[in-house]
Amino acid sequence: MKKATSIWCIMAFCAASVQAQKPKPASTESAKMKTFVSQLMAKMTVDEKIGQLNLVTGGEATTGTAVSTDVESKIGNGQIGGIFSLTTPARIRKAQEIAVNKSRLHIPLIFGQDVIHGYKTSFPIPLALASSWDLDLIQRTARMAAVEASADGINWTFSPMVDISRDARWGRVAESSGEDTYLGSQIARVMVKGYQGDDLKKANTIMACVKHFALYGAAESGRDYNTTDMSLDRMYNDYLPPYKAAIDAGAGSVMASFNDINGVPATANKWLLNDLLRKQWGFTGFVVSDYTGVSELIEHGLGDLQEVSGKSLSAGTDMDMVSEGYLKTLKKSIQEGKVTLTQINNACRLILEAKYKLGLFEDPYRYCSEERAKTEILTPANLQFSRQTAAQTFVLLKNDNKTLPLKRNGTIAVIGPLADSRANMPGTWAVNADLATTPSLLEGLKKVAGDKVNITHSFGSNLTSDATLQKNATVFGREIPRDNRPEEEVIKEAVKTAEKADVVIAALGESSEMSGESSSRTNIEIPEVQKRLLAALLKTGKPVVLVLFTGRPLAIKWESENVPAILNVWFGGSQAAYAIADVLFGDVNPSGKLSMSFPQNVGQVPIYYSHKNTGRPLANGGWFTKFRSGYLDVSNDPLYPFGFGLSYTSFSYSDIKLSATTFKPGQSITARVTVTNTGSVEGKEAVQFYTRDMVGSSTRPVKELKGFQKISLKPGESKEVVFTIKESDLKFYNSALKSVAEPGDFKVFIGPNSRDCKESMFKLLK
Ligand code: BGC
Repeated sequence: MKKATSIWCIMAFCAASVQAQKPKPASTESAKMKTFVSQLMAKMTVDEKIGQLNLVTGGEATTGTAVSTDVESKIGNGQIGGIFSLTTPARIRKAQEIAVNKSRLHIPLIFGQDVIHGYKTSFPIPLALASSWDLDLIQRTARMAAVEASADGINWTFSPMVDISRDARWGRVAESSGEDTYLGSQIARVMVKGYQGDDLKKANTIMACVKHFALYGAAESGRDYNTTDMSLDRMYNDYLPPYKAAIDAGAGSVMASFNDINGVPATANKWLLNDLLRKQWGFTGFVVSDYTGVSELIEHGLGDLQEVSGKSLSAGTDMDMVSEGYLKTLKKSIQEGKVTLTQINNACRLILEAKYKLGLFEDPYRYCSEERAKTEILTPANLQFSRQTAAQTFVLLKNDNKTLPLKRNGTIAVIGPLADSRANMPGTWAVNADLATTPSLLEGLKKVAGDKVNITHSFGSNLTSDATLQKNATVFGREIPRDNRPEEEVIKEAVKTAEKADVVIAALGESSEMSGESSSRTNIEIPEVQKRLLAALLKTGKPVVLVLFTGRPLAIKWESENVPAILNVWFGGSQAAYAIADVLFGDVNPSGKLSMSFPQNVGQVPIYYSHKNTGRPLANGGWFTKFRSGYLDVSNDPLYPFGFGLSYTSFSYSDIKLSATTFKPGQSITARVTVTNTGSVEGKEAVQFYTRDMVGSSTRPVKELKGFQKISLKPGESKEVVFTIKESDLKFYNSALKSVAEPGDFKVFIGPNSRDCKESMFKLLK
């Protein structure tokens, strides 16, 4: 018996240890990948390894002066690892055939593209998508973008862009999810999921590339490509979490940012790319430089091409986008002992692994299906989804006297330089957007209004009175025509059209290329000539609706004081025109809420709700008090706070009910409010939940978003919204960069935006 028992014990032990040793499917796959790549690398020469680190452009969209030459022969010689900005299955197949048939080891290329907010079917710009506060919707846009892009041959996207953006002067706020760390992190996660799906080998999934690592959104004075200098407190608590969230979601690659970070540009920043990204965060994918990011280190003052290439590789930049610094100098650097073969092997391995994960070694033409390109791009279903999505992103900033929604009768005058421009609809970084399926606002309104509405149109004014500024702000085929008659004449004509109408829609704001890369502005108002037009239209006494196109928060104080209704439509993608019409006529009730605070004027920028209190805070609602932190000329308040947006209905919030006012680590409490639709139409509401840590070992922000829920309510309907608060929700990085939740008092806020919240208090016990 004893013996038998011991045999059972041994067997049980063996079974347990077999089970423990039995590798999980993922690790089997990863072991297979490692073996495959090792075997391949054993055959590779140093030159071929360096070749894998070279990323060139196909030239369809370029953001710098470098354009790759001699691409075909380089592919054949094994000197190129990937190409971006080359599309269509036919062109991609041709390049892939050269790699697979002509290069010695037949290694396939990876094909990248800036698929930022949709592909040919374009979706609203990211700043707008964030304003939907609808994670499921955002994930579905990324999924659909991946389906379309992969159907056109692409398997790698330079997205999501997760740079926290708090300076509206910076043009690239348009490409971001805005100012908030929590919202930005959630969006980063779902975007990666949307692109990569559950299996990168599937033909309709693409690899994500998180960018721009790191802190690019904090460029000094909002000037693009400018220096970033930041405390570790701000970095760890505010700016880094969205990148980390994307990496935790499994993003396959990371793009190093252009900017200098505390004295070392990201591309050559070993602490950033090696210590933080790889060692602390456990990132196992590859890092690509930004466009000429490696050679730009020469201008940063880090050395000549050989030196900066060596520094970039040593820091952890695996792939060189367009500089060809790696291709031209790394071999010499090995010979001179400036970089090691191990460093090249590491980088090469990561790039080959990415290709393996995408299934390119099994089938290099996996993403080259003419059939899919014909049937899966710009489908009616995709366009319909784009229209529905856009309507969820518009933010109703003002609606006095129920000016909106519009009635479907009478005459509506549509006026302004942006009223009849197809090119202006998709927004910045929509290089593949299809303008043929993108109606202008005027066209969209005519189609959706119905036959009882008479729609008239007048140009009204130029985008800007300065022709050169307009030229620079309408690049990449996004021209807006100019009217060269005297300004007064053009405005007068518009006034006449307005006088004959019942309602005026003023389609004003920025052109789509007034934001985006290299489109920073020091004046973030609507251009003066458009303001003069708006003033003239208001003078007619007709109700005026400002349909505001913008890729950034604008300073629109005068407009907010004088125009009865303002619908901020950002840049809404392919079907924005229909979506705007849907909202203007009330077929869809607006529910977007600002993902970035709108300042009163540019002098308040950077302005964000989660600021620190200072030792001399102004009293709430206060303006100027001597020796308190404020301005002589304006209050500290934004014009429209983060999270703000109106609806055609109204919502009331009950007081907050806490399940308990104290809890210990390991426990949780709930905070509940009842939200009621007190108006007469159905509407959606993004209910926002914030906390404030009242006493900390470091200073903490006056409010931090910790959760939100978007609910839908019929007229008169109420819903209870419940948020659970756990210790982990209260954590922050302390001065030792440890993530901690410190016992003590906390405020909790729930409300329709970051300003107008109900409050309560609880205590985290030891
Ligand atoms: C931008 C990146 C982009 C890259 C490739 C650069 O200029 O900063 O965001 O992915 O170009 O097009």
